[in-house]
Amino acid sequence: LMQSVGDLASLALERTRLAADLESSRLTSETEGLRAALLSSVSHDLRTPLVSVLGAAEALASDDGRLDDGARRELAAHVLEEAERLNRFVQNLLDMTRLSYGKLSPRLDACDVAELVAGARRRVERQLAGRTLDITIASELPLIRVDAVLIEQVLVNLLDNAMKYSPTDSPVRVECRAEKGDVRISVIDRGPGIPEADREKVFDMFYRVKQGDGRAAGTGLGLAICRGIVAAHGGTIRVSAGTDGQGTRMEVRLPVSGSPS
Ligand code: ADP
Repeated sequence: LMQSVGDLASLALERTRLAADLESSRLTSETEGLRAALLSSVSHDLRTPLVSVLGAAEALASDDGRLDDGARRELAAHVLEEAERLNRFVQNLLDMTRLSYGKLSPRLDACDVAELVAGARRRVERQLAGRTLDITIASELPLIRVDAVLIEQVLVNLLDNAMKYSPTDSPVRVECRAEKGDVRISVIDRGPGIPEADREKVFDMFYRVKQGDGRAAGTGLGLAICRGIVAAHGGTIRVSAGTDGQGTRMEVRLPVSGSPS
């Protein structure tokens, strides 16, 4: 395990370098540069959880009875959590590929908003690690015609960001209500928020807000995918400040009728 912790540290350093590469290739905005940046970033995002899974699996496999039950369970839980992260990441890549080829065609079905939110919640449950997730659903919300798999993916991405970019002891909220023929689902956190100047750009592919402390690595794909999926449903996604002007509110608006525009 110590070995894998060391690996992780050096990967963290490598990530800082990759972020710089990504930044410069974005500036040149040449397709080749983007492709190379995407490849290195993707490989990196696959490798980090993989190294971590390997470390934990190796410790479990080579255990000669020294680990107690608690330690074994912890390692197994770690393997699960990282494998889930990998799974989400690969799903995002698949969605992105489909989006970029215009091949993402939602399969619309009448869906219960509460069930969609509950489904997304289940998929981030382990990552919550005891953090409060408040879910408020207005009574008598209409069913919405959406692709449940894709909309859950959007909600998982938003929850993932809300957790990634806010203190681990701060609550995350989900609010769902109906207004003007739309169902509006908001994910609200109490993190540092997104500066006004970046609010439109965060939905662009590879765009990441500059952060002094180099915190929370990512590829800058999640929100681009969210926007693509929501648009494919004839909806919109927007960002504003969270509660009391603090933190971030991501609001997804989906037409109840589900007719893509
Ligand atoms: P990633 O998280 O992989 O970098 P995203 O497309 O999901 O990519 O997000 C793009 C950028 O928007 C992030 O890098 C981050 O700077 C910013 N961001 C997204 N969600 C939040 C949030 N809830 N709070 C603060 N910043 C956020």
